[in-house]
Amino acid sequence: MLDWINDELCNLERDGLRRRRRTVTPLPDGRCEIDGRSLRNFASNDYLGLAGHPRVIDAACEAIAAAGVGSCASALVTGHTPWHERLEHRLAKFEQTEAALLFPTGYAANVGTLTALVGSDDVVFCDRANHASLVDGCRLSRATFRVFRHDELDRLDDDLAKHNDHRRRWIITDAVFSMDGDVAPLPAICDLAERHNAAVIVDEAHATGLLGSQGRGACELLDVEERVAVRIGTLSKALGTLGGFVSGSTALIEFLRNQARTQMFSTALPPGVCAAAIAAIDLVAEEPERRKTPLRHAARIREHLIARGWKTSGQSEVPIVPLILGEPERAIEVASNLEERGFLVAAIRPPTVPTGTSRLRITPTSAQTNDDINELLHALDEVIQSKPHPVTPSD
Ligand code: PMP
Repeated sequence: MLDWINDELCNLERDGLRRRRRTVTPLPDGRCEIDGRSLRNFASNDYLGLAGHPRVIDAACEAIAAAGVGSCASALVTGHTPWHERLEHRLAKFEQTEAALLFPTGYAANVGTLTALVGSDDVVFCDRANHASLVDGCRLSRATFRVFRHDELDRLDDDLAKHNDHRRRWIITDAVFSMDGDVAPLPAICDLAERHNAAVIVDEAHATGLLGSQGRGACELLDVEERVAVRIGTLSKALGTLGGFVSGSTALIEFLRNQARTQMFSTALPPGVCAAAIAAIDLVAEEPERRKTPLRHAARIREHLIARGWKTSGQSEVPIVPLILGEPERAIEVASNLEERGFLVAAIRPPTVPTGTSRLRITPTSAQTNDDINELLHALDEVIQSKPHPVTPSD
């Protein structure tokens, strides 16, 4: 019955697209261990090094000792504990909104929010570089689905004008594009939304904790918080824990509590994770200098790639630096050569990125030192230049 699965796996192998998991043991100081080898980890989203911070760990342990490991039910049954209540209040205070709502993951927050708010009489305009969870949420909403590019907003303008007979219009975008590291042109998107009576939904996943003077993200940085209808975030990246959230008005949150199926029909986050996330948010608020280190490291890596004429995203402004290599095999080869030299860097292939743009995704964190970056750049020089076929130069 399922023989076809082996054929499909062979096809993935042939195309260089078969994925294999590794068993990765986290180590201190921005390192990890794979197959008994200690590597510098440039493939993690723990941008601020909070996943292993003693205050975050202590907060989790205390809550586990008091409440047990699991929450054991969905929020609407018995899964909403005092730790969840405190975290939602802490998030609302951090985000400067009336209220906030937790979801089991960022993925669930995106799918649940979109399917609750958007319906089949609506039209969604979804950036082509948006994360899979936003794409899935748009598809599941059954709205008319339109794709735009954030570097071609004139076309979005035309498309908004064409689709003016739907019940509601929504523009859906990541704040920071996770594979390119560029920040969405939110002020221009808000201008278009206001002109065409559309609502904007922003996923701050890779911006929360990193961008803006208080670390709230790209909407804060670009001063559009009041112009965006819904802000979604995740606790799993710069905040080093797990879970998704939406922050907004009391009415929005009450509506999502009643309608967002991914939080209604899924077990709530473990209390220990909530306690850890509160400690992580406190650290972001108390130590704004923490976010400068990964941003500085990223700027150095980016400058180095550009100086060598290698193809990166000149626009990237966060600790996500792509090095675009073309074919999947090439990305895998470069990543494995780096690994031999002691550096873990993610090789990203289709369907995560468009065909022909397989890449390394280099993510420095605050746990790394200037020496770590020097050594990474040296290793990159060796690995890229030792190859017979040159990397496509920047355009
Ligand atoms: N949005 C974006 C832009 C992401 O990159 C991710 C995770 N890769 C998510 C949402 C999903 O977040 P989580 O991992 O917390 O489910």
